[in-house]
Amino acid sequence: MGTDNNYNKSSVLIVGAGPAGLACAIQLKIKKPDLDVCVIEKGPGPGNHSLSGAVLEPEPLHTLLDAALPGWQQTDSAKDVLGQRVDKESIMFFAGRKFSLNIFKAIKLAKLLGLGVGQMDGSGHYIVWLSKLTRWLGQIAGELGVEVLCGFAAEDVVLDESGGAVCGVRLVDQGLDKEGKESPNFVEGETIEADFVVLAEGCDGLVTERFIEKAGLQRDCPQLYSLGVKELIKVSSEQYQAFKDSHVVHAMGYPVWTPVAGPAMFGGGIIYPGADEHLAVGLIVGLDWKYHDFNPQDALANFKEHKYVKKFIEGGTVVEAGAKMIPEGGYYAIPRDPGTGAIGKGGVLIVGDSAGFVNMLKIRGVHLAIDSGMKAADAIIANLDNPSAAAVSYTKLLEVSGITKEMRIARNFRQTIARLGPLFGMPISVLGGLLPKFKVEPDYESMTTARYRLKPDCSFDKDTFTAMAGTEHREEQPSHLEITDSQICMTKCTPVFDSPCITFCPAGVYETVNEQVKPANPSNCLHCKTCQRKCPFDNIRWSCPEGGGGPRYKRM
Ligand code: SF4
Ligand code: SF4
Repeated sequence: MGTDNNYNKSSVLIVGAGPAGLACAIQLKIKKPDLDVCVIEKGPGPGNHSLSGAVLEPEPLHTLLDAALPGWQQTDSAKDVLGQRVDKESIMFFAGRKFSLNIFKAIKLAKLLGLGVGQMDGSGHYIVWLSKLTRWLGQIAGELGVEVLCGFAAEDVVLDESGGAVCGVRLVDQGLDKEGKESPNFVEGETIEADFVVLAEGCDGLVTERFIEKAGLQRDCPQLYSLGVKELIKVSSEQYQAFKDSHVVHAMGYPVWTPVAGPAMFGGGIIYPGADEHLAVGLIVGLDWKYHDFNPQDALANFKEHKYVKKFIEGGTVVEAGAKMIPEGGYYAIPRDPGTGAIGKGGVLIVGDSAGFVNMLKIRGVHLAIDSGMKAADAIIANLDNPSAAAVSYTKLLEVSGITKEMRIARNFRQTIARLGPLFGMPISVLGGLLPKFKVEPDYESMTTARYRLKPDCSFDKDTFTAMAGTEHREEQPSHLEITDSQICMTKCTPVFDSPCITFCPAGVYETVNEQVKPANPSNCLHCKTCQRKCPFDNIRWSCPEGGGGPRYKRM
C-alpha cells in the first residue's frame, strides 16, 4: 500500500464494500494478517448503497466471525445487527385486494418431500438489515487492518498490454463540469495497482460488466433482473406487536399476478420487522414485465393497500425508501471464462451478486455473497505467488462448496417462469432439475403495448420516495446517464410505448424536455440501473458518477 494516504498500490484490491467484498477482505486478514488489502466503495460510507431487509442463513457468517472476532456473540454490535431471528414465517397468497391465504404449511410439506420450493422456509435464520450488517462488517475489516476507502468510484479494471494479467483498477475522474471540461479542482482518476482484483460491486456492476466483455467471459443465458422498491415505516406499538418482531411475510399473487385477468409478472411483496417499531414493506418485480405503463412503485402502493398489509402500516410514517435490482438468472447466467470455466480470469475474481449468486428458489443471496467472498480470499491466499491461477482455483473451491450445489438445484426456476409465465411456470418449476434449460431473452425485449390494469388512483409520489433515499450527487458534473440515440426515443419508443423510462424510473430522473426524452434529473438517481436493463430499445447507458454520490441508506 502507498504511504501518506496515497493509496496507489495494494496486493489485493476489492471493488465494493458490500457483504461479499468485506467478507473477502476479512477472510484475507484472518488468513494472512500482513497482506495489503484495500476495499474501495463508491458510496459515501459503508452500507450506504446496500439496501434490504433480508433473511440471512447463519452458517457462512458464523464461520467468518468465529475466526475474525472470537466471542462475537456477546458484543453489543452482534446483538444489534443479529438480534432478530425468524420464528414465524407467513408465505401468503393474495387474490385481489382483500383475500389472503397463508400457504406456509404447504411450503413445509414441500420441504419434507425434498421439493425445491421447500427451500423458501427460513425458520431460525437471522432477520438483518443489509446497510447495518455491512457497516458492522466494514468496522470489523477496519479493525483487522483492511483499508476501507469510501467515496472511491471505480471505472475499469486495467490489464497489461497482452490483456492477460491484471494491473489494477482505474478510478473515475473527479472535478469535471457539466460539459465534461476540467474545472479547477479536477483530479484525474488514478490507477490503484494490484496483484489481485475482486469484483464485489453487487448487481449489474459497471466495472464487472466491462471486465466480462473485455476478458471474453460468457453466460449460458442472459442475466435476468428484478427491481425491489422498499419503504421503512414507523408504525404504532399496537401494530408492531400485532405483527411480531420475529415474523417475516413473503407474499405472492396480487398485485403482480392474478390467474386469469392478469397482470402476469414474476415477483411479490415482503414485510420484515426492524428495530424500534419499524416495518420494511417492499415489492419485488421481475424486469421481464410486459406492461409499458408499469411502475413497480404503483404495485407497491397496491400492496400497501391490501387488507392483510394495511392493518399493520396504516397511519405509519415512511422514514426511509429505496430501490435496488437483484440478479435472478441463476446458475446459467454466471459469467465464465469459456476456456477454463472460471468465474473471473487470471487474478480477477467475481463474487456475490456481481457473479449472480442468488438462489431464486429461496430468493436469498446474502449467505452466498459472504461465502463466495471467503472462497475468493482462500483462492488468493493459495495463489499469492501465481495470481494468474486464482480465478480457476476460486471456481474449484466454489464447485466443492454448497454454493454451486445450491445454484444448480435452483438452475431452471426463473427461466421456467420467464418462458411459461407465472400461471404455468410456477407449478411446472416444481420439477426442478428435470426441466430443460429454457432459452430466454434479455428483460428489455419483453416490453409490449399492453397496459397494467391495476393502476392506483393517484400517481406515486416519487419526489418524497427519492428524498427518503437521501440521494445526492455533485450537481456540476457530467450526467452519468446517457441516451445513446435520441432518434430512437422519438421515432420508435414514444409513439409505441409512450417513453416507459419516464414511468418506471423510481426516482423520476427521466422527463420530456422540449419534446425530447432526457435524463433531466441525474442527481436524483438511486443507482438501481433499471433504466439500463429495461429501456425497450437498450438505449440507455449508466456510468459511474463521482465517488460519494448516490443514495444514503442508513437503516434498511
Ligand atoms: Fe424509450 Fe429508452 Fe428512449 Fe426512454 S430512453 S424514451 S425507454 S428508447
Ligand atoms: Fe435507477 Fe436509472 Fe432511475 Fe437511476 S436513472 S434511479 S439507475 S432507473
